[in-house]
Amino acid sequence: MMRGSLIGSLPTRGFMKRFLLALTFLLAFYSVTALKNASAEAPPPAQTTTAPQKLDDEYTKLIKEYLQDSRITTELVDHMPASDSVPSPLKFFGRIPGTPGELTYSKDINRYYEALAQASPRAKFWKIGKSEEGRDQVLLAIADEDTIKDLDRYKSALAQLTDPRKITEEQAQALIHTAKPIYWITSGIHSPETGGPEMLIELAYRLMIEETPFIQSIRKNVIVLITPVVETDGREKQVDSYYYGKKTGKQRPPLMYWGRYAAHDNNRDGMGQLLKLTQNITREVLDWHPTVLHDLHEAQSYLYVSTGTGPYNNSLDPIAVNEWWLLAETEVMEMAKRGVPGVFTYGFYDGWVPNYLFWIAITHNSFGRFYEVQGYGPDLVPDLHLPDSTTSREWYRANPPLSSIKWGPRNNTNIQESALLLALHKVAEDRNLYLEDYWMKNKRAVDKGRSQAPYAWVVPAGQRRRADAADMINALRAQGLEVQTADSAFKAGTTEVAAGDYIVRADQPYRTLADMYFSVQNYPVANPRPYDDTGWTMQYMRNITLTPVKDRSILDQPMTLISEAVRAPGRIDGNGGTLIIDHTTDNALMSFRFKNARTKMLAAEDDFEFQGHKFRAGTFIIPNANIDTLRASIQEFGLSAWAVASTPAVKTHEMEIPRIGYVHSWQNTQDEGWVRAALDHYGVPYKYFADQKLREGNLRAKYDVIIYPDVSGTSQSILRGIPKGGPDPIPYKKSNLTPNLGALDESDDIRGGMEAEGLAELAKFVRAGGTLITEGSTSAFVADYGLVGGVSVEHPAQLFARGSILRGQFTDLKSPIAYGYDQKDIPVYFNQDPVFAIAEARSGGGGGSGGGTALGQNVTPNAVPIHISPYDQPAEPAPPPFDEAAYTRQMRRLYGGVQPDVAPRIIMQFPKDPNDMLLSGTLSGGQAISERPLVLDANVGKGHVVMFALRPFWRWQTQGTYFLGFNAILNWNHLDAGKTEPKTANAEVGKVK
Ligand SMILES: [Zn+2]
Repeated sequence: MMRGSLIGSLPTRGFMKRFLLALTFLLAFYSVTALKNASAEAPPPAQTTTAPQKLDDEYTKLIKEYLQDSRITTELVDHMPASDSVPSPLKFFGRIPGTPGELTYSKDINRYYEALAQASPRAKFWKIGKSEEGRDQVLLAIADEDTIKDLDRYKSALAQLTDPRKITEEQAQALIHTAKPIYWITSGIHSPETGGPEMLIELAYRLMIEETPFIQSIRKNVIVLITPVVETDGREKQVDSYYYGKKTGKQRPPLMYWGRYAAHDNNRDGMGQLLKLTQNITREVLDWHPTVLHDLHEAQSYLYVSTGTGPYNNSLDPIAVNEWWLLAETEVMEMAKRGVPGVFTYGFYDGWVPNYLFWIAITHNSFGRFYEVQGYGPDLVPDLHLPDSTTSREWYRANPPLSSIKWGPRNNTNIQESALLLALHKVAEDRNLYLEDYWMKNKRAVDKGRSQAPYAWVVPAGQRRRADAADMINALRAQGLEVQTADSAFKAGTTEVAAGDYIVRADQPYRTLADMYFSVQNYPVANPRPYDDTGWTMQYMRNITLTPVKDRSILDQPMTLISEAVRAPGRIDGNGGTLIIDHTTDNALMSFRFKNARTKMLAAEDDFEFQGHKFRAGTFIIPNANIDTLRASIQEFGLSAWAVASTPAVKTHEMEIPRIGYVHSWQNTQDEGWVRAALDHYGVPYKYFADQKLREGNLRAKYDVIIYPDVSGTSQSILRGIPKGGPDPIPYKKSNLTPNLGALDESDDIRGGMEAEGLAELAKFVRAGGTLITEGSTSAFVADYGLVGGVSVEHPAQLFARGSILRGQFTDLKSPIAYGYDQKDIPVYFNQDPVFAIAEARSGGGGGSGGGTALGQNVTPNAVPIHISPYDQPAEPAPPPFDEAAYTRQMRRLYGGVQPDVAPRIIMQFPKDPNDMLLSGTLSGGQAISERPLVLDANVGKGHVVMFALRPFWRWQTQGTYFLGFNAILNWNHLDAGKTEPKTANAEVGKVK
């Protein structure tokens, strides 16, 4: 404790420089000696060390001192041996992991790891990439020195075991007996879960210097890789925020932003792969083929080892499921033997959606797993009291946590370090088993692709959304999937394949990934509540045509492996002065519009046929085009254009570039990040500001469009923001105490939301001709507070649609929001709410009556609903639904001639028949959303509110619906185009600027 306060502030730069210099000399000397020794004599046999290693007494004393409960320890971590050559955490940081009241910055952990590798031939350090904000993600490899010297050979052995098309069974068997499994530990992806990175400081040191047979066996038989902090941007912010609270005694700023785009969903990016951290880990998985990838989290008492309640993902090789259980039972039993309470498996996570970070291993036939540990703190918890639901004895929790315990950071360190050491040791002892499993999973993936349908998946290169199809192919290739192109046209069974079409062969090791991404999900409702999304079918989310091929002959057709990124061919046919670019809903069109922002572009208001080609409403028409200038853009974005002599005879309006305001809350920036990412990626500029600033008003003078993405929470909580309970303001900004905060936005006091004043300003903005775009909870918000009339929000109790892909039916293909879509319906991502009702639209069915029967559900009879995700707590009790019809009746009674509000224009809705709704995922009680609107466009004064109940920009996965939002932006002041109903007086569209 005293020690902690002594070194609480970091040493000065000059001191560190001198220290490092001295260290480097020492280490250089040591390395040379070590190498000499290594080459002069054979390394000592691992199991025969008998002389007890000298202990680091001070370190050992601190471990005991900081531990809050004597049951939370094992013989593996209750001491620390001394090393003459390798700097201990105590020497390097002046304190040990588990010291109360201290946290370590990612950059300092990296520095330590670098020093470890410099000090010992048993480790190697390298950087694997940078974050969005430019911070390093690193890797430390640990094994005995012979293995580290031969790292490339071991790496290559695993690469060979990955591809059964290139080696024989005999070669594989030989490799299984000479290769070593790689066990990659990752942590610090969830920034408020602070203990993993601290513990890994110590684990790395212990693995390198301890000389017990137990640790020697790990070093000899396993290559341990450690990435101590995955979310490096968020870690530095978390440490800033902690020390701000500690040093000022004031309330800590909540961790608003972790990385640039994602907060806790940063570990749900495995499929979408937007974030640099995901891309970096994926690249290393493809390079190293780790046998195990193990991610450390902090959300259960005291230690949950992942298996899962099921349902397990249908594409998993049974070996993968059995590995989960086999290894998890090791930790559960070994910790029970040591009398450590609260280590369990099964009852927390499901095992269904392949989007988590550790699934990057599973989709590549490796073994992915995780821990959830009782929080680190770093402050002490004198009485950690747990509810009965957590401490009950269950079949999967024979040694449950205690109802009350003294907790602290050293408890956290001890419990996860012990469990990890036990797992590493087990994999070391059973190394052939895990290597054989890895080989078999790869082999069986290829065999499956050769022996059963689908034998391949075909993505037509010339499909309508060809630029987005090319994007999807590039995304799949970045995840290691091999994609070919057809050398010539052929037919395989009933599938016509054109020359150049993309083919994903099923006879490749990563068939597992293809199968998981392309198959249709059916999550049985009778199972435990899903942990996250239930449906993710990639071609649905991206609205891409993809055909599974059931005819084996496709494998014998001539095709060529793609070796670099593909792009749809951009082309201009003809040579007139007017350029026509078909609106295909390819997202590249958005980049094209904004890259050529100064070029006047028109949107066709109707479908039309011109020179033999059918163009969809929304088609871009550029009169007097500077073709030479635009040609480069057309090619860059893979668009199809026609240069014609005369402008086609179709009604048009100008697509004026709007000035965009982008509103976030200070309560939750998780979901808005995905929307922001889409704008950034496609080059759409905007002004980013907090909802509090809405109160300043004058919005219409500054903006044409305001985008207000999902905030989550109730309408009341959205309006009020972070409560103003305490006496002190809560700043969120860059300062001497918090140098890592404030990267995206800052505030002197983040408490309070837009409040009534802000809401009024939003209303003024729209009435004066602005366009407001909302999604999810902010759509419910504008309905609940009557900014939009005629729409009520329902909360049907029996509806269950958790992260599913449902069918969205266009009801108004003439609306600019539907421009480019040539389908009657498209797959949309919907997550339970909001459910809208239009006041006069229908009678009965409101709120849905009677429990719905789910569609095509299979049922796992023995499953029992238990835990739910910590990010998925039940919302506050919903307010009683607003009965618009009753309200209107009452208004009529009171005021006679008052007319009901003009109903908003419905652009898209759910199908009428509940049996026609579910495309992938789960659905129950679909009656409650029968014909309920998914996209609404409401006239308010001179402006519009465009409300999405679906989530058009979900987690970098729903590229197929991005253009619903983009269309609203591009046509912001002509949204009434194509409207058939008679306009009312207050619905006149004005060009107010
Ligand atoms: Zn977590």
